[in-house]
Order: sequence, then C-alpha cells, then structure tokens
Amino acid sequence: MPVRRSPSALPYLLLATLAALATLAPMPARTQALDPAPLLDDAALDARVEILADPDGSLAPLAALQRLRDGHGGPPPALERRGGLRHWWLRLTLPEAASGQAMVLRVARYWQEVVLFDSAGAVRGRAGSAVPLAARSLGADVPVLLLPPGQAELLLRFSARFDGYLAPLRFLDALEEERGFQQRLRRFELLNGIYAGVILALAAFNLFLAISLRDRVYAWYVLYALSFGAIWIVRAGIGLQLAWPAWPGWNSLASFFLIALAIASGNRFVQVFLDLPRTAPRAHQALHGVSVLVLLTVLAGLAGFWQPATTALALLALLSSLAYFGIGLRALQRGYLPARFFLLACSALIFGVIAYVGAWWGLLPTVFVTIYGAQIGSALEVLLLAFALGDRINLLKREKLAAESRLRGALEVEVGARTAELAERSHQVEQANARLREANTRLQAMSRIDGLTGVANRRRFEEHLDQEWRRMLRAGRPLSVLLFDADRFKDLNDRHGHLAGDEALRRIAACLAAGARRPGDLVARFGGEEFAMVLPDTDVGAAQARADALRERVSTLQLVDHAGRSFSVAVSAGVSGVTPGPGLDPQDLLHAADLALYAAKRAGRNRVHARAPARRTGEAAD
Ligand code: GH3
Ligand code: MG
Ligand code: MG
Repeated sequence: MPVRRSPSALPYLLLATLAALATLAPMPARTQALDPAPLLDDAALDARVEILADPDGSLAPLAALQRLRDGHGGPPPALERRGGLRHWWLRLTLPEAASGQAMVLRVARYWQEVVLFDSAGAVRGRAGSAVPLAARSLGADVPVLLLPPGQAELLLRFSARFDGYLAPLRFLDALEEERGFQQRLRRFELLNGIYAGVILALAAFNLFLAISLRDRVYAWYVLYALSFGAIWIVRAGIGLQLAWPAWPGWNSLASFFLIALAIASGNRFVQVFLDLPRTAPRAHQALHGVSVLVLLTVLAGLAGFWQPATTALALLALLSSLAYFGIGLRALQRGYLPARFFLLACSALIFGVIAYVGAWWGLLPTVFVTIYGAQIGSALEVLLLAFALGDRINLLKREKLAAESRLRGALEVEVGARTAELAERSHQVEQANARLREANTRLQAMSRIDGLTGVANRRRFEEHLDQEWRRMLRAGRPLSVLLFDADRFKDLNDRHGHLAGDEALRRIAACLAAGARRPGDLVARFGGEEFAMVLPDTDVGAAQARADALRERVSTLQLVDHAGRSFSVAVSAGVSGVTPGPGLDPQDLLHAADLALYAAKRAGRNRVHARAPARRTGEAAD
C-alpha cells in the first residue's frame, strides 16, 4: 500500500550525506587530546628495526638474534605474496627516552602470534590473535606487548598465515607509554560496553514488540540487530574476554558466522519492512539471491575454503548494504514514509563501515571516529531502524483508521441503498394491497348487486334488513318493509318480448331507487319481477304512503318495445311496519308484507296494501 506522495527523497539524502560526513570528519583537535602522540610512530619504528625472514620457522631465538646482529637483516618488505604460515624475526633498538618508564609496543592487528624475547633468548611476552588471552602480556584483545624495563635491544618473532591475498606487511604500529595506553584501553572497553548495551536494549525492546504485536518484522529486526551487533562485540574482544579466553581462534570463526547471519536476517528484515514481494518484486528476488549466495559461502567456509569464503562474505556484506540503500531510496520515491529512517540508518552504517575499513587499510587516519566508526555507525543504524519501525506502526495505524472509515462509509451507503430498496418494495406491496382491497370491495359489492338492474340483490337485502332491525331495536324506532311485484308481467313479456321486459325491470328499479332517500333506505331486487325496500325509522303509515307514491311514479313510466310500440307497467305493493321488540324478527315483517302484497293482487292489482306482522305466539290474520 504505497500511501500518500512523499515530499521528496532529496532532503533525507542530503541529511544522510551530512551525517556521513560528520562521521568521517577527523576532528583533529579532540582526537589529539584523547590520543596523545606516541613516543615512536610506525615510520619511526621501521627505521629502528632489522628484519630477517624465517620462512619455515627453523631458527632458534639466539641464532636469529646473532644473524641480525651480524647484519643479515633488512628493512621491512613492501609486499608479501600469498603462502602458508610464515615467520619473521625483528631486532628493535629502543631510544634512550624509552628506558625510564613502562612502555608498550603496539603491533599490527593481523598477526596471529608475536613473541617478545630478551637478549638472553627468554620469552618476555606474547600477543596476537591466535594467542589465548591468559598468555598475552596485557591480557588485552588489542595486540600489544608490555616491554621489560631497561632493555635497549629487543627480539620479536612475527607469525601469520597469509592465504589467498597479498598483504602489504606491517609489523609495528607504535611505541607509547603504558599509562596512556591503559587509559585508551579502558575508554575502548567502556565504549564497547555502551555499544553492547544499546544493541541489547533495542533487541530486548523489539523482541517484546515482536511477541506482543506478533509482527515478524520485529523478529527479523531483533535477529539482525543481535547478529550484527555481535560482530562488533566479538571484534572488540568481548567474546574472548568473557566467553572463550582460551580459544582466540573462535573470534574469526564467530565473526564469519555472525556476518553471514547478519546479512541473511538483514535481507529478510528489509524484504518484510519494505514489503518488497508486493512493492518491488525484482529487488525482493535480488535480496533472495544474495541470501542464497551467503548460504553457499558458509558451506564453502565449512568445506575448508576459509579465506575465499571470508572475502566473498565481506563482498556480499558490502553488496547488500548498498542494495538496502538503493531499495530504501526507491521506496521513499514511491511515497513509503518509514523509508526515511531506513535510509538514514543505511547511510549511518555504510559510512561507519567505510570509516572503519578505510582506517584499517591505511586510507584514513587512525583516529577515534575511524577506529570506532563501525560501532558508531551500526549503533546508529540499529537505533534509526527502531525509529523506522515506530514510523511504520504509525503508518499502519493511519492506514487502518482510513480503511475503517472507508469501510464504514461503504457500509452506510450499502445500508442506505438497501433501506431505499426496501421502502420502494414496501411501497409497491402497499399499492398492490390497495388494488387488491379495491378489487375485493368491488367483488364483494358485485356479489351483493343485482346484475340486471344494478340495485342490491336479495342477499344484500336480507343483511341490511337484519342490520337495520337491530339498529331500530336499540333505538326503539319503527321499521317498515315494502314488497313490489310487477303486474301481469308474464303477459308483458309475451306481448313486447323479454328484452322489453328486462328494460321495464331496470326502469322500475331506478324509479324505486330514486325513492330511497335516507342513508338507511335500501331498494333490492327480491326475485324475478319483485322488488323489496327497507325503510328504517319509518312507521307503517308513512311506509304505505311512500309505497303508494312509488307505485304512482312507476305507472307513469313510458316504455317502448323493439317494434316501436309504447307501453307502460304497473306494480302492486305489500307494506308492513313495526317497532322491533321481543317475539318478533325480520322474517315476520317480510312475511306480513308478502301477505299484504297477495292481498293487493287479489284486490285487483296496481295498489298498495298494508299489514301488521303477527307475533310468533299468535295467529297471523289475513
Ligand atoms: P301477476 O300480476 O299475478 O304477478 O302476474 P304475473 O304474470 O306477473 O305473474 P307470474 O308469476 O305468473 O309471472 C312472472 C313473470 O315474470 C314470469 C317471467 O316471464 C317474468 N319474469 C321473471 N323474471 C324476469 C326477467 O328477469 N325478465 C323478464 N323479461 N321477465 C321476467
Ligand atoms: Mg311475481
Ligand atoms: Mg307479477
């Protein structure tokens, strides 16, 4: 996830260069105060020695001394070609000034054994990387010999194995007072202690983070910091002093494996930290390749090709630290902000190592910052990498927050869309329901309406009668029922045809319906050519008057048959009315109206008769 655009890699690059220049600056005044000039430096010492090569080491000390005294020695050789274990004898004549105080003679670092003899041929001190700590004259890791007082002539034997490379031979570094040297040694040990402390503290802290955050980048960091720090700790002789004083050879062995481990774990750290598999697959592959080469180098070292393996490992270390720098630069250009500290860390290391190696090769002055360059550089690197990890946590946190808010936004949009969709659906359902209700009412109405005349049908009539009956029962008001029957309708059909008959029925229905004026009034088709009417809150007298008025209206209807002949129609009516009460029901009322209708028919038709309903217990009169 390359994040926001970074401002520019340039300021960090400049800062890195400045830091490096500061590391490289010789700071002459201060170093001079810390490191007072030795009594004799290496050039002055070279002028006072005679050197005798003893390729197979066959010379005894006194014989060697005798030959040197006889003038068989020469000046230091400029170059030495490769070969196995080689020995040289040195005769050193000390100046007068050296005789009064305790002096130390510093020898070059790469000698495996340097033995100091007195003029009688007795061993007076030993130094060198292959000499156990207890056997060294000062017990220090630094190759140095404590000179016996009062000796003007010294004999030294130098031994080293120079497999695989050309070495410009250097024997003696400096002659100085023991007091000043011891002070420097204590400072050196103190600084190395601080260095080891910084590395261990950062490693412990990040180990804690690795466990609590379960982020493997911290685990790789810890492995890298520990292995890388351990290289310098071992180089400073701490391992020799604390862990393996009797096996000085372990120093180079441990360094070799630690360097291999540091490169491999450093590669892994960079791969995970900069998320290389995703952001820079080719760089990822390249670092993988370097790690594989490191493994092959270790195998070669184990197989006995020690010198080529160490040289290859040094080259791989250089290669990967340069690669880290380039990869970090690319990551910063891509906008990955934690690469800032990463770049600073890389440059601190690179320039620290350059300072150290430069001093070692004699290209840079051997002063405080160059002697300790690698330690300073690597401590800075480990510290800056810890900052880079912190920066990365910040970035991850910000990204997590951003992702969460994006997710929340998306969720809200989704929920909104769903809600709208649901609302739309429920609206549609509601509409469908309304249509259904409407259809239902139409259906219900249709089932209660007579198809020919459009007035209520018999079923509706009976429901309405029951309902109004109960209402009037509660109200204590009268209720009347009217039954109409068309007179001689069979004859009418026969004369004018059934269609004219149907039309006559529609006109009668419309005429009667127009007479239903109050909300409770209802006209219904009762049977073939029969109609019924309910008049609530109407007594029988009023009902009879209404029936008669309606009969009158019907008789005035003008009808025309299909042949164009005009005709009229008449109705007879039976009326019954009562105030609902105990012992009576609607059927009694209907029955009485029916009887009244028959009476009207019998009485000659086109008239209205009324009749009171009979109580169930009594007999209905005619
Ligand atoms: P009355 O005066 O005694 O009632 O004589 P009527 O002929 O009307 O009586 P009847 O009961 O003998 O005949 C009823 C007639 O009504 C028979 C039938 O043809 C006619 N009718 C019944 N329903 C319809 C209808 O829906 N359309 C038509 N055109 N005629 C109908
Ligand atoms: Mg009839
Ligand atoms: Mg009839």
